[in-house]
Amino acid sequence: MVQKSFVHFWQKPLLPSKVSLEVQKVNIIPPKINKIWVRELGSGSLRPGMRFKTGEIVRNDGLEVFVSPFTGSIVSVGEVKGYLNRQYTEIVLEKDDEEQISQDMETVLATKDPERILNYINLLPGELKFSVMPSNRKLDVIYISLMDEDPFTFGSQVFIKEFHKEIIEAISFLKELANRQVVVLPEDGSITLDTPGMEQVRIVPAYPHSLPQMIIKQISGKEISSRERLLDYGMAWLDINHLIVLGQVLFRKSVDIIRPLFIVENGSKPKFANAKIGMPFTHILESIRAENYRAIAINSLLKGLPLFSLDHPTLSHTCSVFLIPEEDIPEFVDHQCINCGECVKICPSRLPVNMLIRYLQNRRYEDAVKNFDLLSCMECGMCTYVCVAKIPIFHYIMLGKYEWQLIKEKEETDANA
Ligand code: SF4
Ligand code: SF4
Repeated sequence: MVQKSFVHFWQKPLLPSKVSLEVQKVNIIPPKINKIWVRELGSGSLRPGMRFKTGEIVRNDGLEVFVSPFTGSIVSVGEVKGYLNRQYTEIVLEKDDEEQISQDMETVLATKDPERILNYINLLPGELKFSVMPSNRKLDVIYISLMDEDPFTFGSQVFIKEFHKEIIEAISFLKELANRQVVVLPEDGSITLDTPGMEQVRIVPAYPHSLPQMIIKQISGKEISSRERLLDYGMAWLDINHLIVLGQVLFRKSVDIIRPLFIVENGSKPKFANAKIGMPFTHILESIRAENYRAIAINSLLKGLPLFSLDHPTLSHTCSVFLIPEEDIPEFVDHQCINCGECVKICPSRLPVNMLIRYLQNRRYEDAVKNFDLLSCMECGMCTYVCVAKIPIFHYIMLGKYEWQLIKEKEETDANA
C-alpha cells in the first residue's frame, strides 16, 4: 500500500470551549518521600542508602541514568509497569531538608555548550527531551510553540505569566541552536511575548491544527512523514514545557525545578499547582483535597496517558492533570465497530481507521502497518473522541505502534546475532 503523507487539513477543527482565565493557585508542600521512574534501568548498582546531591548525574553500572532532581537518599529500588505495560525502575527517595548542589551541574553549565547542557537536562526523570544536532551542526529551524496543544487546557497563558523570566532566558539560549527560529503563538492574541530577533507566527488555536505536524505544514509547506524524526529534516520542536524546564535550570541554576501543573477538574475552577519532579500524585491529590478521584489522565484528555493507579510520580513531562470522578469515567469497552465511518471522516491523516481497528484488536500489527498505514497516524486522538461504539481506538493505536517497534527491534537483534 502507498504510504500516505499524513497531513491533510481537516475542515472542522475542534474549537476550544470558552474558558475563563480564572485559576486557583495552590501551593503544594513537597513531601519527604518522593519517587522517580526511569525506563528499564534495572536495579544494577543502585542501593538503599545511596545519597545524591541536587543535579548530580547518577550512574548505574557505570552508565549515566538520571540527574537527581533534589538532595536525598535512596529508600528502595523496585520495578513497576507503566503505560503500555512498559517496564520502569522505581526509585523511592527521601528528600533532605537542606539542598546541596552537585558539582556536576556547575561543570555542565560552566561549559556554556548547548549540546552538553541539553543532554544533561535530558537526563532529568521523565520524557521531556531536547533533540540536538550532533556537535558543531546547527539545526535548520527550531519551532518554539507557546500554544496549548490540548483543546481542554489553557495552561500556556498561566505558565507564561508565572515563568516569564525563565521562558525569555530559555528562548535566548535557543537562538544559538538553529539558523532560523520560529515562535508559534495563538492567533487570538491570548498570548503575547517579546522575542527580539525571532520570527513570530500566529496560528488558529483549534484542534488538531495545534499539533506540531500541522503547524509545521502550515508554516513551511513541508509534510513530515511520521516514519522519520524531525531531526532528519534538520528541525526541532519545543513547547512551553521545554522552555519552563530549561529556563529554570539556566535562570535559577538548580534542577530542583517547579513542574507547574494545570489541574482540570469537572465543574470547578482549574487549579495551578507548583508540583516538583518526583512528587507522587497521591500527595498532590491529598494537598488539593481531591482524594476521592479515582482516575486521571495526564497531559491531554484526547491523547494523554490514562492513569488508573495514582501510584505514579510527577515527571519532567507532566504538565496537566485531568481529574475525573469515578462515576464520570467514560465506558470504554470492546464493542464491535458498527462501521459508522465517523472515525474515517474525522481522521486528519485520512486513514481507514475502521479497518485499522479490526486488525489492531486482533493483534495483527504487521498488517496494520503494511496494509493500513498505522505509522501514518499522527496521534491526535480524534477517532476515539467520536467513536460511537466507544472503542478506545487511540490506545489500540499506541499499543500497535509500540508492539511494532518491539517486532522491529527483535528483527534487528536476530539479524545481528
Ligand atoms: S489518532 Fe485516530 S484520528 Fe488521529 S490521526 Fe490517528 S487514526 Fe487518525
Ligand atoms: S467510529 Fe467507531 S464504530 Fe464508527 S467506524 Fe470508527 S471504529 Fe467503527
